[in-house]
Amino acid sequence: MGDCIFCKIIRGEQPSNFLYRDEDLAVIKDIHPHAPVHLLVIPTRHIRSLNDLTGQDHEVVLKMILRAREIAREQSIDESGYKLVFNVERGGGQVIFHLHMHLLGGW
Ligand code: AMP
Ligand code: ZN
Repeated sequence: MGDCIFCKIIRGEQPSNFLYRDEDLAVIKDIHPHAPVHLLVIPTRHIRSLNDLTGQDHEVVLKMILRAREIAREQSIDESGYKLVFNVERGGGQVIFHLHMHLLGGW
């Protein structure tokens, strides 16, 4: 997936600040924030969208959700509240076709 922007970020070929990184996923700030805290939780493996998940990917989706919960705590937005959003395909507002979950909060 040579020209995928999120694959480039994961490979370190495109500058970005990781709030969290392990072998399965990364968390970065969204460059066009729609909330006081707007982060993206991105699996390292290139998966186009939620529609393309296979049985072997189920664990990483759970890890994404639990990591978002942890980061929300770290950012002190857990008690005020936050949203976790997957945009799926063009009609769902997806513009980057590498699976990611938005973490929005801090209002
Ligand atoms: P989506 O509409 O769900 O595909 O969301 C893609 C998100 O990625 C948008 O909110 C963009 O602002 C964000 N985005 C695009 N390029 C970058 C980048 N280089 N670093 C961080 N966020 C980005
Ligand atoms: Zn990718």
